[in-house]
Amino acid sequence: MADHCIFCAIAQGKSRADVVLENDVVVVFRDVHPQAPVHLLAIPREHVPTLNEALPATVAALYAAAVEAAQKEGCAQRGYRTVINVHREAGQSVWHLHLHVLGGRPLRWPPG
Ligand code: AMP
Repeated sequence: MADHCIFCAIAQGKSRADVVLENDVVVVFRDVHPQAPVHLLAIPREHVPTLNEALPATVAALYAAAVEAAQKEGCAQRGYRTVINVHREAGQSVWHLHLHVLGGRPLRWPPG
């Protein structure tokens, strides 16, 4: 666990979050500022600052959990988007790897 990392605290149950699913590797919870009716964040329990430092197995576990969560939320067949912002120019604001899962409304392309 990294000091002062809010997502480490959520992964360890030390900070509140609306968790929709979890397993040994990943926790999926609702984004506190949702940008769509479904807006989830899938994070590894282990502290990994960005996608650049992630092991392939960790990335695979995040995506598997995202699919499961999209199915649970009812948007897997309608459509949903997964996004990982990496570093500042992409808009990363929390320095613990997280995969956004957005759905429940039509999503425009390209993103801004
Ligand atoms: P990013 O800008 O890609 O780093 O995304 C960070 C996301 O984390 C944003 O969408 C925030 O709304 C969300 N967020 C930050 N703190 C929390 C929290 N305590 N619980 C849930 N979501 C959070």
